[in-house]
Amino acid sequence: MRIRSFGCLPAAVLAIVGFSGAEAAAQEPSSSGHDEVGGVSTAATVPARQEPRLVRIPDPLARRATVSALNSAVARFEEPSCRTILTEFTDGDGRLLADRLASSGNDFDRYVNMLVFYDGTRSRTCDKGAFAFTAPGSRVVLVCAGQLKRVQLSRLDAVQPDYVVTAFIHEILHTLGLGENPPSSSEITRRVRARCSASRTDTLSRRDRKAGEAGRVASRRERSESW
Ligand SMILES: [Zn+2]
Repeated sequence: MRIRSFGCLPAAVLAIVGFSGAEAAAQEPSSSGHDEVGGVSTAATVPARQEPRLVRIPDPLARRATVSALNSAVARFEEPSCRTILTEFTDGDGRLLADRLASSGNDFDRYVNMLVFYDGTRSRTCDKGAFAFTAPGSRVVLVCAGQLKRVQLSRLDAVQPDYVVTAFIHEILHTLGLGENPPSSSEITRRVRARCSASRTDTLSRRDRKAGEAGRVASRRERSESW
């Protein structure tokens, strides 16, 4: 795994993600084979949905916020438009993130359950104002619990409801091998927001309803194919 030092620390809370590959790698659990292709057999023995997220964050508010954001991220990936983000980025070897996910033998939901989210509060990266960080290809994401709680308790969520889930999707893309600079942190976030934001889904839903009222709505299958 190639570790790079990323310059994606935010100047303010709205600029999202910091990164410290060495710190993330240092906290990665010892190899269990869980993140290898051989994990397919393990995944086949457990339910496909509603598996517990591996969130090891002591603070209950930050833990709940993380689980909620991960569930939202999985829900967003139910939309084909959101899944296309995996075909827009590659890992350091030029491999599509979609192919990286496929080689794990898991769908996105199960893949998220292979990731472990720890509290990175004591890290220098969190001290500098990051929201969360990881290393390309790592299965460990460190969450800056204090920063997450500040976002939850502030009005930022009302102003920008997708902020938290966008940040987590951004980190999940890194776990699939996406590096940074290029693309810049802000470019990754911008594209995630463009493909996966709830407002985009709502807009499309309204469009579908309008088409249905006009008697022009296609069958559900046809609509899904048209996405
Ligand atoms: Zn990043």
